Amino acid sequence: MMCNPLPSPCRRFFVQQEESVLKIAIASGKGGTGKTTIAVNLALTIASLGQPVTLLDCDVEEPNCRLFLKPEITGFRPVNIPQPKVLEERCNGCGVCAHVCEYHALIVMGKQVLVFRELCHGCGACFWLCPEKAIVEEEHPIGSVEEGISHGIRFVQGQLNIGEVMSPAVIRQVRLQGEITGDCIIDSPPGTSCPVVESVRGTDFVLLVTEPTPFGLHDLTLAVGMARALSRPFAVALNRCDAGDEGVRSYCKREGIEILLSIPDDRRIAESYARGDIDLSKLPEYREVFDCCYRRIAALVKKGQNGIDQGKRGRAA
Ligand code: SF4
Ligand code: SF4
Repeated sequence: MMCNPLPSPCRRFFVQQEESVLKIAIASGKGGTGKTTIAVNLALTIASLGQPVTLLDCDVEEPNCRLFLKPEITGFRPVNIPQPKVLEERCNGCGVCAHVCEYHALIVMGKQVLVFRELCHGCGACFWLCPEKAIVEEEHPIGSVEEGISHGIRFVQGQLNIGEVMSPAVIRQVRLQGEITGDCIIDSPPGTSCPVVESVRGTDFVLLVTEPTPFGLHDLTLAVGMARALSRPFAVALNRCDAGDEGVRSYCKREGIEILLSIPDDRRIAESYARGDIDLSKLPEYREVFDCCYRRIAALVKKGQNGIDQGKRGRAA
């Protein structure tokens, strides 16, 4: 287990000095890498420093941070998106709506307009641009956002309704509701597609979680490409670091990417996980590991903000 500690200010000094608010996304090119374990433990670490922190579960198709934090839910809000309803009596079949819909959610056949609701992103273009005012918007429920508190952590999670596909809209609401005050830890969905981009966009730092296997390496390279395309500073967290092969480490070395956190394949972690308890601070050596990880991220972000490390995003400082 490793981290790269800063020259070690005592915890009290650090808390007093650390004023900036951090938004840290925990992402992974694939599921099952330990993303949630790291997100929950980083949030617990920040809370233990006495700092306000919000954990945002943006893995809205399968949110599971709550299984481990067991928060008391204090708020619930449905998430709707506006979708078009065509008033047939006004429609003249001009086709403007289908032409402006970037998502191909509308087809005009004669004077009939077919709406493919699953493809509609609720952008409103058809509504605003229909020359006959033949389109009205109807609110369609796609999910919900819940808020609660646990272990001194403010907790916000999104849940996409079964059968719905527009997870970015739910993720947007989670972030709107969650990023109010204090540090934010964002548990992103797995992969590198639109939902992940929505959860990573505008964050201060992205921690890419992977495992030292050929699959882990393949998905890490995609995730690195995403972080670079979004110009987010990033580093790697290597889970089960003592298993597998050297591929991920060689890649990171070649690319100048810092491996900021390494967690071994520890049977005690698996046992805790199986019990629904992933507070690793109960295993004393891990408390320091996550503490160092958080401080390292704060230092890297600060360095970037000061312009010292510009142009080397994702590279070891
Ligand atoms: S833009 Fe309006 S009038 Fe034209 S086809 Fe679409 S709904 Fe009908
Ligand atoms: S609201 Fe936007 S995405 Fe939905 S059908 Fe209209 S133009 Fe297409």
